[in-house]
Amino acid sequence: MTESDGSLSARGPLVDEGRYAIEVRGVTKVFGSGQEGVRAVDDVSFSIRENEFLTLLGPSGCGKTTLLRMIAGFDHPTYGQIYLDGADISGLPPFKRPVNTVFQSYALFPHMTVAQNIGFGLEMLGQPKQEVEATVSKMLELVQMQALKDRRTDQISGGQQQRVALARALAPHPKVLLLDEPLSALDYKLRKEMQIELKRLQNETGITFVFVTHDQEEALTMSDRIAVMQSGHVLQLGSPREIYDHPAERFVADFIGDTNFLDVEIVSADGNTVTLKLSSGREVEADAPRDGTVTPGRRATAALRPEHATVTADAASADLAGKMQNVVYFGTDTHYHIEVDGGAPFVARVQNVRGGEAAFKAGDVVGVKLQPRALQVLKD
Ligand code: ATP
Repeated sequence: MTESDGSLSARGPLVDEGRYAIEVRGVTKVFGSGQEGVRAVDDVSFSIRENEFLTLLGPSGCGKTTLLRMIAGFDHPTYGQIYLDGADISGLPPFKRPVNTVFQSYALFPHMTVAQNIGFGLEMLGQPKQEVEATVSKMLELVQMQALKDRRTDQISGGQQQRVALARALAPHPKVLLLDEPLSALDYKLRKEMQIELKRLQNETGITFVFVTHDQEEALTMSDRIAVMQSGHVLQLGSPREIYDHPAERFVADFIGDTNFLDVEIVSADGNTVTLKLSSGREVEADAPRDGTVTPGRRATAALRPEHATVTADAASADLAGKMQNVVYFGTDTHYHIEVDGGAPFVARVQNVRGGEAAFKAGDVVGVKLQPRALQVLKD
């Protein structure tokens, strides 16, 4: 596992220092036993900073919900510990943790009004009526639902229900809010709105958010940091830009955004800079792997985002040469599918200008120019 500030070790003991809302230390969760056993989370260690928006991102079955449920207390680690504010909470039941969860199904009480739903938990905690009313009013304002406060929750839209569920979870001002794919039931446009809304809520409340999703766009737009998971492991932890621009390994590069993978030869390595020989024979500078080493003379895989390449008619002086296979117009940009030297498929994504025309057509011999230092070498 890597992190932008380089402070975490891979799957091993935690070496972070400083103040964290949550620390996950060597946590493993095995469901069942023997041959039937499923290792849903496998020796995971990482820390979540105070007031951070951290997203657990990965494909279905990678273990993100299990990890979230262990932080909430609905499941317990088979091995390892979870610390909240420096105290081991691994054995505490959910209601004893200063943590609230918003689920995919909002689980609102349909016969209660919006305001009653938001206040219900506070009343259960035995808070005085006046205090409950003041908090409910503040929450209604926060999620912009004042106008519908007396409406029953089975008489409001899905997006509005989502806001009520959030307000209800935020009302007791938990230390940490856990969100398990809370936007997945919403349509595309509403989901985009709620992404901005969630980020605003997190900024305004200062509460630590741990968000689970398999949607990479959702993760990139909202998170302070993203933990990319696969098969029970956290493969990489870093800011959205770090994860997108500097994926550590092939799975991360492939799962987040579109990526070209180039087979390259390592010419030399010097700190963070690696000199590569491309299939065309040209040499370019690239970023060294985030978590791993390279050996001069060996072959490696380098990742390149399609928008970090342009197409030129001057194949002879370009970084790669090839034959145009397909030109696809996407409105905002045009995707050029090119068979580059050696027969590898390659996509360059070029932003469109108003009134412009596609500069190339299928069958053209073209060159590909890479932006300076556009390539990220991946660890083996
Ligand atoms: P999704 O996005 O589909 O919700 P996920 O990444 O959240 O997936 P988990 O729900 O954490 O994945 O599941 C991780 C693995 O553990 C899966 O293989 C799943 O089948 C298994 N698993 C989860 N809960 C249980 C359980 N209670 N008993 C047995 N296996 C389980």
